[in-house]
Amino acid sequence: MQASADRSEPPRAERAATQPVLLVADRVRTLDPDRPTARAVCCAGGRITWVGDDPDDCPTRDVRRIDLDGAELQPAFVDAHVHLTVTGLTLAGLDLHACRTVEDCLASVRAIADVVPGHAIWGGGWDDFGWPERRPPSAEELARAAEGRPVLLVRADGHAAVIDRVTLDAAPLSRCDGVERDAVGRPTGLLRREAAELARSWFRAELPRTQLTDARRTVVDHAASLGISSVHEMGGPDPMGDDDFDAWLTGDWPVEVVGYWSEPDLDFVAARGLTQVGGALLLDGTVAGRSAALESAYADGVDAGHLYQETSELTDFLARAVRARIQVALHCIGDRAIRQAVEALESVAEVTSSTAVRHTRPRFEHCELVPAALLPRMAALGVVASVRPSFDAVWGGPGGLYETRLGVGRSAGMNPLRALSDAGVTLAFGSDADVTPMDPWAAIGAAQRHHQVAARLDPDTAWRAAVLGGRHAARQHDAGVVRPGQRADLAGFAIGGDGTPACVLTVTRGRIVHGEQSVAG
Ligand SMILES: [Zn+2]
Repeated sequence: MQASADRSEPPRAERAATQPVLLVADRVRTLDPDRPTARAVCCAGGRITWVGDDPDDCPTRDVRRIDLDGAELQPAFVDAHVHLTVTGLTLAGLDLHACRTVEDCLASVRAIADVVPGHAIWGGGWDDFGWPERRPPSAEELARAAEGRPVLLVRADGHAAVIDRVTLDAAPLSRCDGVERDAVGRPTGLLRREAAELARSWFRAELPRTQLTDARRTVVDHAASLGISSVHEMGGPDPMGDDDFDAWLTGDWPVEVVGYWSEPDLDFVAARGLTQVGGALLLDGTVAGRSAALESAYADGVDAGHLYQETSELTDFLARAVRARIQVALHCIGDRAIRQAVEALESVAEVTSSTAVRHTRPRFEHCELVPAALLPRMAALGVVASVRPSFDAVWGGPGGLYETRLGVGRSAGMNPLRALSDAGVTLAFGSDADVTPMDPWAAIGAAQRHHQVAARLDPDTAWRAAVLGGRHAARQHDAGVVRPGQRADLAGFAIGGDGTPACVLTVTRGRIVHGEQSVAG
């Protein structure tokens, strides 16, 4: 019975994708200069087929009409830098962003130990900067809170972690680089660099398959519920590995997943039909970890961080990528790392051509402490700045992490969004989830409220960076504008009300992936 029903009728999702849909809203913000606003949009076959003011003018027959009363329709958002599975694990498990003390953190571990299935406990989002104890939980405290279960808590910036005493003693971590030790030389539980990477990979292998599957579904459903229809997944061998990356590339998800693989391996991406590589391809580390590469020493440290890549090797790799027309996304935060990226690309432009480099649209991920003199050179190379406005909201401002690490002068120059935009460098907004939560409206707000007035973006530029910036960064020319022929990637938001506009509808390639129940029609 079931089989014959399946044959006579396509699955519900397929039906929904094939029947033309006419969306009618209070207004439509199109980004099309020929028709900046409208009221109705028709979608068929995954594309926009008609845009107009009077729904009765729509030439398509047999449409399913959906009225979005009290809502504005716009191109869907793109989150141009996420770590999906880790974010899903945190969303479905232990999210420590709200913790303000060691005890908060331990209480969360105790609470989750009772309710989350599986063996190992994975949490993320803690940031001990500003905590009264000025430290994360210790290995002993975690072992007690988790009652013997292995526990790993990743720091908000993703570049450090703490683990429990039992795991610390059992895992081959103590010989790694990056193990913090107390006065008598005993590991405290805090791991950085190589040790943090190894611990995350070890824990990942301990997680049951179902926990990973649930995490993946949770995070993309969450993205769709925010009006996001495309995310740029920054995958890599650490911590999730190639099977997780392939799950993202091959799965049927409610949002588009554009995959970036963090190793400088062109064969790996070619085998998967990708024309982009990098993402978490690190030229340096982070400001929180004092590992971002600076041109002069940290204000609260002894050195200036360091570059992770040899310039000659980086240049060789970039030249091979440009010749293969492969886009490269480089993680560069400190001024020294950004300079290395610019100089390497300029060397490549000399041996290929600046047109060839521009064609690949190089991406700088984070791109935080940008020397002003590099701005026109970045624009000339066609660099996209893949930026995180929310970082300023979390770590900028007086007394913040950036000021502590860098001093007042340099911290004022962090995340110079306005200067980048004014120089002609395209901005693409991303959350770096789970470093900060996926939240496009929060990113737009943070860009307008940058703690440095001169760095603030106007509302329209900020909105465009959240909508179109990611399309430009992914070299997609057929998405991001509400115009016939473009991909039907749309989001509807309730007009008015306080706080973040509520997403009432998300459409990915013509398929309604969020909000179908909440609209009339
Ligand atoms: Zn990242």
